Amino acid sequence: MSKERFQQIKQLFTRFVRDDERRIYIQLGALYGILFLTCIGAGIANLASGVINAGTAILLFAFACFLDLVLHLINGVFYRIGAWLFVSEVIGFFTYFLIVGSPGNAATIWMVLIPCFGLLLFRKKMGSIFVGVMFAILAFFSWIPFGVSLLQYEYDPGFIQRFPFLYIVCFFLAFLFESIREHTYKELKLAREKYEYLYDHDALTGLYSRSGFQKQFQWDEPNGVGPVALAMVDIDYFKGINDYFGHLNGDAVLKQIAGIFLKIIGESGTVCRWGGEEFLLCISNVDEAVGLCEKTRLAVHDSLIELNGQECRVNISIGLTMVPKGQSFNRVGLVQQADECLYQAKESGRNRVVSSFYKDLQKQE
Ligand code: GH3
Ligand code: MG
Ligand code: MG
Repeated sequence: MSKERFQQIKQLFTRFVRDDERRIYIQLGALYGILFLTCIGAGIANLASGVINAGTAILLFAFACFLDLVLHLINGVFYRIGAWLFVSEVIGFFTYFLIVGSPGNAATIWMVLIPCFGLLLFRKKMGSIFVGVMFAILAFFSWIPFGVSLLQYEYDPGFIQRFPFLYIVCFFLAFLFESIREHTYKELKLAREKYEYLYDHDALTGLYSRSGFQKQFQWDEPNGVGPVALAMVDIDYFKGINDYFGHLNGDAVLKQIAGIFLKIIGESGTVCRWGGEEFLLCISNVDEAVGLCEKTRLAVHDSLIELNGQECRVNISIGLTMVPKGQSFNRVGLVQQADECLYQAKESGRNRVVSSFYKDLQKQE
């Protein structure tokens, strides 16, 4: 196997264990398929060697597994019906072989797989019901004199009395392992969600970070279709604020300004801290974009920010580029054009909005 193929399988496995629903779905489907194929083979082999009853029972079980697989593939509510049917079929199949017996008790011994797979495939609640029902049946035929009298196969008395203990020990072990797995899975899921949140949000302002914005803005797809408006915002002479009031107060200014952005743009778009004292505002309604940017600029201009008992005013410059409805655009190109508008806003005196419509530079070439 090549190294790349091995890596692909490893990645598939990682995705598989990261999502419990997906894991259970794939495992159950695979189990139905494997049982169908092996039981078809085993059933035919039994029939061919003249073991008619066992062969017929195994073939019936194979077709039941096939039906479960079909329901499983239809998915939706049929997925659950298939799972419950499968549980009933397994219980019926093992009960039949427990009563009629099989060469060397083989079918009965395979019963210990029920606690092992039951919890892995059906989780603790449904799995325990499944395992518990099978245990009740096993205990009835092993420990209750009336049940024992119904057995058609002559079991070794020591075996049939002790076997339920082995079954129950397997159940407790499987329950312990499943509890540990479930707990670890939940912890990892929480840790991953926390890490993703931290990665996608700016720690200081709570706004989207560059990575979070790129996810929202579908950055992986180079081209998109309007309407969309993108504004790049930069605080004017912010270095001076840091120099005069200190960096911690500079941070407080960033937080307050972020709050103003969220208040004005919040519902109508996405706000991101692009880096340092630069922000991106993504506005979905192009017709409102210039008005919203002006409103934001004025709101910042009019805010009195209190720092160490002193009052401070800050201004922002905004470069806005708009893509009308239906026009295609390149995402990197859009950010670049908003940045160019911001540069013009700075050059022409700061504390202003410079806007433009997106130009498809690739088409013009
Ligand atoms: P201009 O009007 O041309 O944008 O001038 P400016 O002073 O705002 O621009 P400049 O790029 O010279 O300075 C940006 C400053 O922003 C420098 C940097 O120390 C400060 N800065 C960047 N990130 C942070 C931060 O997280 N906290 C604080 N307090 N300052 C920051
Ligand atoms: Mg800057
Ligand atoms: Mg600046």
